[in-house]
Amino acid sequence: MKKITALFFALFYGLITLLTIVFAALFKEHYIAIIAGYFVVMAIAVVLNIILYQQIKKRKLDMHKEIVTSIFDKMETMAVLWNEDFSQTFANSTLAHSTGFSIEELKNKAVLEKILPDEAFSKDGARTLISKKDVHKIVYNADGTQTEIVWNTSLIEGFEGKPVYLSVGIDFSKTSDMEKKICEFSNDLAETQRRYSLSMELSEIGLILRRGGSNKVFVSQQFKNMLGIDGADVMHVDELKEKIHPSDRVLFENYCEIDADSADSHKIHDIDLRILSADGTYHWYSFRYKVSRDDINGDINIGGAIIDITKEKEKDSLIEKMAYIDEVTQIYNRNRFMMIGQETLECSLDLNLSYWVIVLDIDQFHIINDTCGYENGNNLLKDMAITILKNLTLGGFGARIGGDNFALIVKDDGDEELPVKIIKNIQDDLSKLASGIYANQTISCSAGYCKMPDGSDNFAKVLDHAEFALSFADDSRGTITRYDLKMHDAIIAGNNLEKELALALDNNELVLYYQPKINLSNGEIIGMEALIRWIKPDGTIVPPGAFIPVAESSKLITKISDFVMYEACRQNKEWQDEGLPKLTVSINLTSVDFYQTDIKETIHRVLEETGLEPKYLEIELTESLALKDIEQAIHQMKELKELGVKLSMDDFGTGYSSLSYIQVLPITLLKLDRSFIMYLEEDEVSREIVSAVIKIAKSKKIETIAEGIETVGQAEILKRSGCDLAQGYFFGRPMPAKDFKEFLKSKMPIEV
Ligand code: C2E
Ligand code: MG
Ligand code: MG
Repeated sequence: MKKITALFFALFYGLITLLTIVFAALFKEHYIAIIAGYFVVMAIAVVLNIILYQQIKKRKLDMHKEIVTSIFDKMETMAVLWNEDFSQTFANSTLAHSTGFSIEELKNKAVLEKILPDEAFSKDGARTLISKKDVHKIVYNADGTQTEIVWNTSLIEGFEGKPVYLSVGIDFSKTSDMEKKICEFSNDLAETQRRYSLSMELSEIGLILRRGGSNKVFVSQQFKNMLGIDGADVMHVDELKEKIHPSDRVLFENYCEIDADSADSHKIHDIDLRILSADGTYHWYSFRYKVSRDDINGDINIGGAIIDITKEKEKDSLIEKMAYIDEVTQIYNRNRFMMIGQETLECSLDLNLSYWVIVLDIDQFHIINDTCGYENGNNLLKDMAITILKNLTLGGFGARIGGDNFALIVKDDGDEELPVKIIKNIQDDLSKLASGIYANQTISCSAGYCKMPDGSDNFAKVLDHAEFALSFADDSRGTITRYDLKMHDAIIAGNNLEKELALALDNNELVLYYQPKINLSNGEIIGMEALIRWIKPDGTIVPPGAFIPVAESSKLITKISDFVMYEACRQNKEWQDEGLPKLTVSINLTSVDFYQTDIKETIHRVLEETGLEPKYLEIELTESLALKDIEQAIHQMKELKELGVKLSMDDFGTGYSSLSYIQVLPITLLKLDRSFIMYLEEDEVSREIVSAVIKIAKSKKIETIAEGIETVGQAEILKRSGCDLAQGYFFGRPMPAKDFKEFLKSKMPIEV
């Protein structure tokens, strides 16, 4: 700027001089006047120039002062600008406000003497002030009060070349207040921490802290004391998991699974766990944890407090034992399983996790119970419980949920084959148990399983699914069935069939066919088996195998059996009354019918109503039916026998019963299953078995009947083996009552 101004003035003076020379040359006769004029103009220009320069300088100075004043006023600390003779002083409004003097008053040296350090007013004092730091001054304020100000002075570029000093003051009383507060605060903090540690120690609460998604947990000293362990405050989560009791790991895994992706509802999770102490014992702990999100960085923090509740658990253990522990196996029972299952289902929904629910059934447990004794039966249940716990190492929960049924909950690790692997491991372990105590019986189990959550709103439904899958595996050993929706379809189809069947019963579409039973020694007809048929209006004949199982799973079976009982007795009595030979009619009962407590009364009533003598009625019970509950079966059979009816064991040989076991049942007839008869002619082993069974039965005064005889060869072998009776297509197919009557009328003994 300065350069441009100088250039302007140089050009201006040069131009005037040039014009003067030009005019002087052109008007030579007036050159004196022209030169005189030149000097006048130049003199005026110089004067104007000086005035202009002074004004610009003054404006700059004013601006400078304005800026400094403005900055000063905005400063929150007290400040004074001063020169050595105090002819130029500026104090800011903070100082004015603090001391009570006006800014104008503060220009006065006498006033400043009350405020600035004494050194500022002595010779060379300013230099002393600059070299010193934090010079204290007791200031006398306008209102007579005192303030201690700490001044710091520095030299700044002066106005008009003279040194100017800046003194900045801080109200010491406020600073010391703050210092006091900081001090008090730290003391409070230390006290709080001390109290906190003390309360933690006294309340015996251990802390476990973890950041979401991290594998490291911070464990407090108190927690380490509880477990009796030393070591670092940071543990790997797996190290901690190892210490959790296998049965409780599934609960702890929910805690381990929480990571940054798990949005949380600030719910407090409360679980009871057993954790292994350094002395090798498990203690019970109540573990309460909460997931929270850091407002600033969004991190997930999981804070957990843990208390030793072993004593409380011990107190409750008796009640707990009765309520939740299975007496025989000492593992959890169904009640506890349902509770844990429900909690796990809720966790799985909250935390987006999945689990497997597995139900296991010991195959043919009744046989072991009955042939090896009650005590050994219990031993097998205990062995099964141990096997289950042993196979829970992947984390999970096991329980005996009833009879020979056990159940497990296992965390899904992404491997769809996991439940099958666990079940197979259990089966392998069980098969090794077939030692002397179980009379070398093959010990196996079948299983049904499903994944959770599966859309069910409560755990009972989930368990139903697994149990339903198991029921698909009921009849064969070692079957593993996964529940799937097709099973639902089967249920729906069953439901439809059930409805149709109910209508069929009302519409008299159910009829009885009769198949003759023959005395093998003389070929005489001694009786007939009533076999049900569903004859649809279009003439289609539905065999019993297609609808009896459906009826069995609903109340319909009772109605059907009532019909069969009544109709078979009525028909038999009618034929007897018509003068036909007096025969025995046999009917088939399901376990639903048989285990009804009023079965004796029902049959008695039917016999009364139809007038048939009890000895002409025979009840066929299957082997598997009797094995379901042997003690009850014996009781019910005795009841029926008291009525005077005959009892026969149907389908003998299809199950796993042994003859010695059959002997305890009060039966009069043993019906060899068709599967024995089919290969009699070509299979030596079948012949030997049939012959041995007949001999043993005879020795026990039990008659034998062979069913499914289709050839004369089979009939001959059976006759030679001493079999008493026979039934099969070879002698006569099941036929409608009208046809059977004709068959009977012909009274033709069939010679063998
Ligand atoms: P079951 O009591 O063992 O009846 C014998 C079955 O073998 C009958 O089948 C009969 O038709 C069939 N059968 C008889 N002789 C021969 C033969 O020489 N060769 C072949 N291949 N089969 C022969 P059905 O009538 O289909 O009955 C099947 C099963 O249904 C019966 O087995 C019985 O368990 C059940 N059942 C039949 N009627 C009733 C009933 O009224 N109530 C109940 N609860 N179950 C019934
Ligand atoms: Mg039968
Ligand atoms: Mg049979």
